Amino acid sequence: MSETIKGLDSFSETYAAAKRKFSEACETAQGTLYSYRHPEAVDPDGEPLFIHVATWGVLKASNALLIISGTHGAEGYTGSAAQIALMQSGVLANLPEDVSVVLVHGLNPYGFAHSTRTNENNVDINRNFIDFSKPLPENRAYLELHPFLCPEQWNPQTKAEADEAIERWIEANGREAWTECIMKGQYEVPSGLQYGGQAAQWSSDSLREILAKHLPAVKKLGFIDWHTGLGQPGEPFFLCFSERGSPEWLRACEWWSVQAIENDDGYDGSDRPPYNGLVFYGVRDAMPQAAVTGAVVEFGVLPLKETFDQLRIDRWLRFGDVSGDAVQLAQLRRQVHEAFTSADPAWRSQVIAHAQQIQLAALEGLKAWT
Ligand SMILES: [Zn+2]
Repeated sequence: MSETIKGLDSFSETYAAAKRKFSEACETAQGTLYSYRHPEAVDPDGEPLFIHVATWGVLKASNALLIISGTHGAEGYTGSAAQIALMQSGVLANLPEDVSVVLVHGLNPYGFAHSTRTNENNVDINRNFIDFSKPLPENRAYLELHPFLCPEQWNPQTKAEADEAIERWIEANGREAWTECIMKGQYEVPSGLQYGGQAAQWSSDSLREILAKHLPAVKKLGFIDWHTGLGQPGEPFFLCFSERGSPEWLRACEWWSVQAIENDDGYDGSDRPPYNGLVFYGVRDAMPQAAVTGAVVEFGVLPLKETFDQLRIDRWLRFGDVSGDAVQLAQLRRQVHEAFTSADPAWRSQVIAHAQQIQLAALEGLKAWT
């Protein structure tokens, strides 16, 4: 059987299949599996939802690799496949004594199971790691644009009108302001896009619990949060949120190359926008004793504008006026799914080959990090 076919095998079409595959791969690779059950939310078949955690190595390990999948719904199908490919590769069987590996599968299991970006409360987990005891970040531009980003009706006419209004806004305010508005998160419209919530969510609290329980002694943490939607089709796009030029940034450049870390091409010509509440910050804040070298790694699927329209459709399917027929709505949901995990076998095998390289580079870097 060729490597390509092996890579394709690591993908799943449903959350239930992905969690089964993840558990089986963990067992075969002789990891230890833990599960964190969601207290209320269920999958489309009414079955319970879990974050699964697979670990290798001892608790007192000082160096650890943490890899997360499923922060954003359908992107989880790609991150899950990357984690499964790592387990299937056999490298986890022979870790040095001071290195542990922790794979977190389906951080936002509701979004994963329902192929929707946000969680059961429409909260974007990757905007939820803020200090909720302080005043929430503002995003006035989002409030202006919300009616056009999220029209009640989604049809060619309403979309054309909304897009025209958005274009006029961009002409008046500039493309940088637009990119910032749609990327940095908003904390005021619970049914809107990129909603960061009013309180810490179950997924966020669970991640903090997982870090405390499985990585108590870590001093040096390698970290990958798998995503899709930004960057060139099938190619990795790195978002390293360490300060440019800091030791953590330079180490990320060593592991994954300067070109990869410094590339900002995923924003269609805009600079990288400021983000609020990222998982990356959440991990760093929860582990003040550790140096964290890591990145959000995206894989591109569609052009950015099309991807963004899929996010608008995703949101409309949950909160808009959806009076269309069920088959059509299911097709739209499937389209959202494939905008974040392509069904194309060539895309899938290319992505898994890249993902494996990125994971192995992190593991090698971590072993050499003294
Ligand atoms: Zn994402």
